[in-house]
Amino acid sequence: MRIVLLGAPGAGKGTVAKSLTEFDGSVQISTGDILRNAVKAGSELGKKAKGYMERGELVPDDLIMDIMEVRMKEPDCQKGFLLDGFPRTIPQAEALKKLLDKIGMKLDAAINLDVPTDVILDRLTTRRTCSNPDCQEIYNVKSNPPTADGKCRKCGTDVIQRADETEEAIGNRLKTYQDKTAPLIVYYEKAGLLKNFLSLNSRETVENVKIALKGA
Ligand code: ADP
Repeated sequence: MRIVLLGAPGAGKGTVAKSLTEFDGSVQISTGDILRNAVKAGSELGKKAKGYMERGELVPDDLIMDIMEVRMKEPDCQKGFLLDGFPRTIPQAEALKKLLDKIGMKLDAAINLDVPTDVILDRLTTRRTCSNPDCQEIYNVKSNPPTADGKCRKCGTDVIQRADETEEAIGNRLKTYQDKTAPLIVYYEKAGLLKNFLSLNSRETVENVKIALKGA
């Protein structure tokens, strides 16, 4: 399957993407993870992206397209892909279409995870992430806490609050989502690719998405 996952920050795109790739063998491509790893590694890309990310703003489209051009031509994408956090703007969606045309591929669906704003806000402020770049397990201080001393239950590394998960950055991310990313829902609806899911529980959403994709 070749899928784009849409949804506000904290809608659960990462969790849903992970479960879906286990189901059909496609590869999950998260621009957020690629960028965070670049920041951690201190690469040129990381240096350029860091400020935007910490403020909760989008990284410029041309930088994102440079990353995606390279990534989508890698051999593992032949089996299918789930794009998690990309495209985030109309120009990115248009550039993606051009890129896919060029490499002879077509999207099967754009899956939108629809989550009420109050739920999103609660999730983002209580979310914690494993700081090991090879793990990045997601925790929640209320529903799925790390160990009592704040370590990852999978790999034992410190679990932290991301720099872009302060109240101010979260406000910016949600506004950016409304202004720049939400218009993609209409964009993909017009393209006949949109599948919308009210998503309050990731496990249920994964089951519903699987059923919808089987019927596609
Ligand atoms: P979330 O969806 O929880 O906001 P992500 O992990 O997808 O987080 O992204 C984190 C940050 O990385 C974003 O706030 C943004 O600065 C940057 N980013 C990720 N993907 C893109 C993209 N496609 N275009 C522009 N910026 C991006």
